[in-house]
Amino acid sequence: MQLSEKILSIKPPPIRFFADKASNTPRCARLDQGEPDFDTPRHIKRAAIEAIRQNFTHYTSTYGVPELRDAVAEKESVKVSGLSRNNVLITTGGMGALFCASASILDFGQEIILENPSWATYSYMVTIAGGKAVFARFFEDDKLKPENITEKINNKTRAIIVNTPQNPTGRVWSRKEIKAIAEIARDYNLFVICDEVYEEIIYGRKHVSFAEYDKDLSNTILVNSFSKTYAMTGWRIGYAVGDKEFIPSMLRVNRATTTCPNAFAQRGALAALKGSQNSVKKMVSRYRKRRDYIFKRLSQIGLKTPQPDGAFYVFPDVSDYDKDSMRFSNNLIENAKVSCIPGIGFGSEGEGHIRFCYATSIDEIEKGMNRLERFLQNYPEPIEV
Ligand code: PMP
Repeated sequence: MQLSEKILSIKPPPIRFFADKASNTPRCARLDQGEPDFDTPRHIKRAAIEAIRQNFTHYTSTYGVPELRDAVAEKESVKVSGLSRNNVLITTGGMGALFCASASILDFGQEIILENPSWATYSYMVTIAGGKAVFARFFEDDKLKPENITEKINNKTRAIIVNTPQNPTGRVWSRKEIKAIAEIARDYNLFVICDEVYEEIIYGRKHVSFAEYDKDLSNTILVNSFSKTYAMTGWRIGYAVGDKEFIPSMLRVNRATTTCPNAFAQRGALAALKGSQNSVKKMVSRYRKRRDYIFKRLSQIGLKTPQPDGAFYVFPDVSDYDKDSMRFSNNLIENAKVSCIPGIGFGSEGEGHIRFCYATSIDEIEKGMNRLERFLQNYPEPIEV
């Protein structure tokens, strides 16, 4: 049987390989998967349970529940004024919104520019939508290089995906950087798909949205999710915000792939937006302490590490020990029982780096850093754990 070439071109990501390996490694310090360790706040769970009790268990509108669309429009109004539910599509996770956006702007063979390194799933999604992922090194020595992006633009280019705060680096884009990309998008008539799923998980900085430079959302699609902000990864609710003329196109993708997002999970998401935001503040303040701790330890250990100002990842440079991040990560888990994700899994520019996720307890992070410190003293010799 002949399978689709595009599906065969998608190789299993290292993230799965290392997550499975970590699960099979007893007493492993788990710093691999990007998954909040907090429980979903109680009032959100109660709302979904109540929805099930009331038999809110059938298909909803393909656009999503109207009250939830209204609540999203209200939340996002701090970025763009005059939003209504017609600017909002509720999707199956932030992933659903990214796929709806990509699939509704790409014709076969057309291109989307992605940051190198960036979250690997973008490129799989573009491929499945029939397009081609083109990688550009957006930053060099911590400086945005617009020319690295413009040189990749041709008559097949349709969009640029930007993620701030970023996975895997934790980078938060500045106003100036955002403006520079918004100008490129305008000059070349491209969409910007702006992945803001980590926007609330940010430390001492202010999240700047692309919408600030495209007030009528003529070529900007905002993508967001309940997964990270409210520790709701398994609920699978996200959304896209865009021009109201564009939402019905994304709707077609939603309809063809999922009919609608989960009904009672949408009720939970509504409670998340309408209820107290104290649990978010608490989670972010805990993430911040962990960020401070892991960043300090990595710096003391002597690994070059840019300070992450958002999300819950840190991306140290391990190339002084091993230029091959896959080999380094394998050695780290096998010989020191610490799990991470090799930087190469995020693109060629991620090589020589590893990603740690610090959405776990300080004790787990401390265990991981203590082992890493001892392990590097005699890399790659096994240490006693
Ligand atoms: N964007 C980024 C950058 C992510 O890291 C993730 C999840 N790891 C997502 C989007 C998707 O999130 P979800 O589908 O769970 O909302």
